Amino acid sequence: MVILGAGFGGLELATRLSEELGDGVDVTLIDKGDAFVFGYSKLDVMFGRTTLDAVRLPYSELEKPGVRFLRETITAIDPEPRQVTTDAGTHEADVLVIALGADYDFDATPGLVDGGNEFYSVAGAERLAGVLPSFRGGRAVVGVCGAPFKCPPAPSEAALLLHDYLSARGIRDECEISFVIPFGTPVPPSPDTSKALMAAFAERDIELVPDRRVASLDAARSVAVLDDGSELPYDLFLGIPRHRAPDVVIESGMTEDGYVPVSSRTLRTRYPGVYAVGDVATVGVPKAGVFAEGAARVVAASVIAGLRGDDPPGPYDGLGACYVEFGGGRVGRVDVDFLSGPRPTGTFREPSTALLAEKHEFGASRRARWFGR
Ligand SMILES: Cc1cc2nc3c(=O)[nH]c(=O)nc-3n(C[C@H](O)[C@H](O)[C@H](O)COP(=O)(O)OP(=O)(O)OC[C@H]3O[C@@H](n4cnc5c(N)ncnc54)[C@H](O)[C@@H]3O)c2cc1C
Repeated sequence: MVILGAGFGGLELATRLSEELGDGVDVTLIDKGDAFVFGYSKLDVMFGRTTLDAVRLPYSELEKPGVRFLRETITAIDPEPRQVTTDAGTHEADVLVIALGADYDFDATPGLVDGGNEFYSVAGAERLAGVLPSFRGGRAVVGVCGAPFKCPPAPSEAALLLHDYLSARGIRDECEISFVIPFGTPVPPSPDTSKALMAAFAERDIELVPDRRVASLDAARSVAVLDDGSELPYDLFLGIPRHRAPDVVIESGMTEDGYVPVSSRTLRTRYPGVYAVGDVATVGVPKAGVFAEGAARVVAASVIAGLRGDDPPGPYDGLGACYVEFGGGRVGRVDVDFLSGPRPTGTFREPSTALLAEKHEFGASRRARWFGR
């Protein structure tokens, strides 16, 4: 088996197969990076709560029976023969899993690169850790440039953590914070989560600009132009760039409407022996690590059942729990069910320090299982 991408989905899949089959499996796991970083660690890095070095999980520490990690850049995928070309050679797969995540399309938002900052990439978060200390007051805008985007609560978390950051520096009173999001509420599948977030924004004097996305930045005038043509002046812009599948996936011809269509029950693509999991796939669930992980577990179960001659596993359930930072050391939790009913439903748990500890445990358990730390 060849797994493309060692993010949330690829790591969980390789780990499951190794745990169940040990040396009885032959998995090649390929990623162009040299380390995994949890998405939420980017918020910690940008606000100076930790350093990049402290949160990088180097792939050199991956030691799993039956799994071989290769640091290579994938340059072509041919799904019919399940052949993959990289900067180092070619790989043939009997089972191929695309877990390459979503990339950022910076050029889709004119001015973003020159006029603003983004915190969705590791490099962007690290750059911001250097930029934020020099912000001395004025108008701050947290702006989403397009949907879908990873981890729907993350932009709200950024706005709340920015409030904390500016308060700790004693300059919150000299600042305005606006938050632009292309939905009517911050987390549409969970009205209770949205209600709690909107109450938190109101308490902290954060202005919510719903149903709008940032279309471009006019860096010369320091103005964010929204999709209805209205303008929002800024002194500090923190952006969530538009997303798209990695170029190599688009060029493979596997995508429709930007992402790889799969059966939401089995994660199979229309190509025999080819699965897609996580942010790169269209499954009907949000782009978040917990969902990538859940999808990977179904693929692992399906491959294991095939090898053992067992019945195929039950369908992917589309369930996921996301932790939501409210600032002040408190974290809420939303449990979302995307696939079992006619429409998504979410259950919200109020922010608490206990849930902060639970979030830490979530990260620690993955570090231990995936990296043996
Ligand atoms: C600020 C922020 C906060 C977040 N918070 C959370 C959270 O609290 N909970 C949560 O569940 N999710 C969270 N997420 C979302 C989460 O990080 C992603 O949804 C998740 O990583 C998706 O997993 P994946 O396996 O699909 O892709 P990824 O984890 O993105 O992995 C894809 C891998 O493919 C590799 N790759 C891509 N192209 C190539 C190529 N050409 N050659 C070789 N390798 C390649 C990449 O290097 C990458 O390692 C957050 C994201 C952000 C940005």
